Amino acid sequence: MHILDRFRDPEIGRGLLEKVSELAGRAQEKLGRPPVFMEVCGTHTVAVSKAGLRGLLDGKLELRSGPGCPVCVTDYGDIDAMVAFGRLPGVTVGTFGDMVRVPGSRTSLEREKARGADIRVFYSPADAVKWAQENPERQMVFLGVGFETTAPAVALSVAQARALGLFNYSVFTVHKVVPPALRALGSDPEMKLDGLILPGHVSAIIGRRAYDFIAAEYGLPAVITGFETLDIIDALYNLLQQLLSGGPARVENGYTRVVKEEGNVRAQEILDRFFEITDVSWRGFGTIPGSGMELKPEYREFDARSRFAPEVEEPRIPAGCRCGDLLKGKLTPRECRLFAAACTPSHPVGPCMVSSEGACAAFYQYERRSAAG
Ligand code: SF4
Repeated sequence: MHILDRFRDPEIGRGLLEKVSELAGRAQEKLGRPPVFMEVCGTHTVAVSKAGLRGLLDGKLELRSGPGCPVCVTDYGDIDAMVAFGRLPGVTVGTFGDMVRVPGSRTSLEREKARGADIRVFYSPADAVKWAQENPERQMVFLGVGFETTAPAVALSVAQARALGLFNYSVFTVHKVVPPALRALGSDPEMKLDGLILPGHVSAIIGRRAYDFIAAEYGLPAVITGFETLDIIDALYNLLQQLLSGGPARVENGYTRVVKEEGNVRAQEILDRFFEITDVSWRGFGTIPGSGMELKPEYREFDARSRFAPEVEEPRIPAGCRCGDLLKGKLTPRECRLFAAACTPSHPVGPCMVSSEGACAAFYQYERRSAAG
């Protein structure tokens, strides 16, 4: 049996789900309401929606999405800046696919492309470096979007560009680090969460112990888990057990096949070598201290902001968009009055309906019927 088959076995899944339902009932009696857990990571959100877990546990426990979709948490001002780069003469903007359709204040990269801007989708930053090498007459600005997982590849693209002596490659980094966003959630007096399901991929880089503060400072149980349905059910089981035990909250590692206590030390060294930590703005949260990564001064020549400093108008937030509250776990997509009405995947109002890790896109694809009902 392949190791992953154990995490996909429907019999084991059904049995564990029954136990989760039973524990959730006991937790409900204890709390006087259904327990509320947040799946921080967008990939978990999609896995939860796809497996129909929310529907299966409806009335027993609530699962809310969090700020773990990198495209969704990119602020309007940053998307507007990406558009501004695309409008500069001689500049080609390179990006991962999801970013292209995300609306900024006034337009999107997709619409700018239709108007003649040179916007190109790459599968990796290394491909963008190659493109820059082959097109020396153009300036390539690569959009560095993503958390601790994606940033090392962007850092290495800068190293590659320097090694090749390229002067037409730079990155616009809006990279973010996850723990400060969890601090922002933990210290929000309006936050009503009973536990966190922590991201698998980011944790593989930063390690389990990077989250100890969640339990120590906010008394919140938390579990790192993988992306199979059974991984997620197992994480719920663990969170409920912690809630019912009455003992101190812990941060547990349910994804030991990938995540180590100390994380991926080599990737951490790359991040430390290329980036310095800065304060950046997250959609819905505003500025979170120490939550962003920008290139260190010794790599400034590859920093698109320093190289081009494009003019960006004051951002404008579309009326009715609730993406910000959604990313803080304050509501579910169906509670946004634009969901599946004015906001659909073909006419997205906010990034949560565009990104492949966006909660609204996942709800629309997998849970719309239950939302309508
Ligand atoms: S339905 Fe659309 S507007 Fe509403 S929160 Fe989701 S993405 Fe934003």
